[in-house]
Amino acid sequence: MSNKKGRLFVISGPSGVGKTTLIRLFLKEDRLSTFSVSYTTRNKRSHEVHGRDYYFVDSEVFNSMVERDEFLEWQEVYGYKYGTPRKNVLDVLEQGLDIFLDIDVNGALHVKNQCPCACLIFIEPPAKEELQRRLSMRGEREIPKRIKVADKEIEKKHAFEYTIVNKELTEAYEEFKGIIESVRRQAHGKNNC
Ligand code: 5GP
Repeated sequence: MSNKKGRLFVISGPSGVGKTTLIRLFLKEDRLSTFSVSYTTRNKRSHEVHGRDYYFVDSEVFNSMVERDEFLEWQEVYGYKYGTPRKNVLDVLEQGLDIFLDIDVNGALHVKNQCPCACLIFIEPPAKEELQRRLSMRGEREIPKRIKVADKEIEKKHAFEYTIVNKELTEAYEEFKGIIESVRRQAHGKNNC
């Protein structure tokens, strides 16, 4: 049996920038990786599936998981709590598979502190107007709040190893794939965290 561990990819960037789309596209064609499903206290959107997009839980369940130290990281984002279940991530890495986290910037920096060899990729919008357009197309409420947070997140992009400007999806996806392949080559033969 191989003792090679998987790699941890952390994808962050403003809400509506296309992180989830890029990750889903990649996972569709890649058999060596999986997605970390977070826990959240926010309400489920109509198209979302419990256990696929998130585990939707109430504050009581979330807080007891925090108390039991079951999160690799957790943050409050737009008034709701979001957390990455530690055991799931570690189990996947142990199996030698790569795992993708789609989390906010503060959560990403926290993961980097704990797992220095995690690869952090920041997805940036081409312009604020475009982000605004995408958020309203998605029917998102509280757009001004999300734009304000986006500004703060963009200020922290320098802490990330890679930045991709998602102007055009096909191009951004090629860049995304290229980064992952290159990281996989660099890390070949080395254990991750
Ligand atoms: P949304 O509510 O739009 O699905 O997500 C809001 C924000 O929370 C996004 O930036 C998303 O990446 C982030 N997020 C999702 N799951 C987690 C998590 O487990 N931890 C942290 N820190 N952020 C998360």
